[in-house]
Amino acid sequence: MSIIDLRSDTVTRPSKEMLKFMTEANVGDDVYGEDPTVSKLEAQIAELCAKEAAVFTPSGTQSNLIGIMAHCQRGDEYIVGQTAHTYMWEGGGAAVLGSIQPQPLDFEPDGTLDLSKVNFVIKPIDDHHARTKLVCLENTTSGKVLPLAYLKQFSKFCKEKKLNTHLDGARVFNAVVKLGIDADEISKHFDSVSICLSKGLGAPVGSVLCGTKELIREARHWRKMLGGGMRQAGFLAAAGIYALQNNIDRLVEDHIHAKHLATELATIDEIDVDMSSLQTNMFFITVKNGYDELRNHLFNNDIVLPKCPNKKGQIRLVTHLDITSTDVKKVVQKFKQFYTQQKF
Ligand SMILES: *Cc1c(COP(=O)(O)O)cnc(C)c1O
Repeated sequence: MSIIDLRSDTVTRPSKEMLKFMTEANVGDDVYGEDPTVSKLEAQIAELCAKEAAVFTPSGTQSNLIGIMAHCQRGDEYIVGQTAHTYMWEGGGAAVLGSIQPQPLDFEPDGTLDLSKVNFVIKPIDDHHARTKLVCLENTTSGKVLPLAYLKQFSKFCKEKKLNTHLDGARVFNAVVKLGIDADEISKHFDSVSICLSKGLGAPVGSVLCGTKELIREARHWRKMLGGGMRQAGFLAAAGIYALQNNIDRLVEDHIHAKHLATELATIDEIDVDMSSLQTNMFFITVKNGYDELRNHLFNNDIVLPKCPNKKGQIRLVTHLDITSTDVKKVVQKFKQFYTQQKF
């Protein structure tokens, strides 16, 4: 019996076909720049995003960090969402390892940064201040897709202010599929984009940063320093190539599954579904009473939910490659079973 893990789309395991494709990869020493499969993956992502160059990294955290470090010098500043991965969830790496000061701002409810608020925190050029250099966005952010019209305003604004732009596009293909556009319609609004291969795309490891040749050359230097220079990494890059070929278009299934699950859970009195959060492959619910009992009941039926609610008291549910429509039906049934058996 397989486990239905709704905690994250990072839990996917490589399929047999992906594993076979990986074992057949042609590899070399990538620190010498001699791994043809890594180079091929980098070229493919660069082309998809219409950027000059790309670099393969072990994780999205490292890809974001080397991106920020390539944009900013010691004593520079980046403007970032208060709850953004690049501020909140990466160990403070930009500050700790890059000596780059974050300037966090609250995200608006739709996941954008209000440009008048961004404008307000840009520091004047003065010996007193850090030098504001970069603005980071996230797309999707908590499953929400940033509106294209906003991205256009955002990039125009940042050009006027002479600020560089970085997109944490860990799940950018969820946005691409949702909008029915090409990835470069999003990436063209940013100087650099980081993409995770190990989330909905189903690769076991790996992210890619893309941008100009010059920026990526700089990022490669930081990657090596941070211990991210990998040798016969083509076996891993092959998983990424397989993922780009096979697992982008199917993300739409994850969106359908999330919608189905959210709609069904919304019929349960004891659960509030935050429908505004439901755009792609994740959404948030509030369980009014007895979350631990519910979680245990589901766990005993091979369904895994997060250990505890987030600070807003919400539980995040995520659909992905390893969750089928039959799985979704089972999850709905087990939730409903719990609430017909229990009295709260
Ligand atoms: C997962 C994620 C990352 C990168 O995470 P890694 O686990 O380091 O690969 C970056 N940004 C966002 C928004 C993410 O969800």
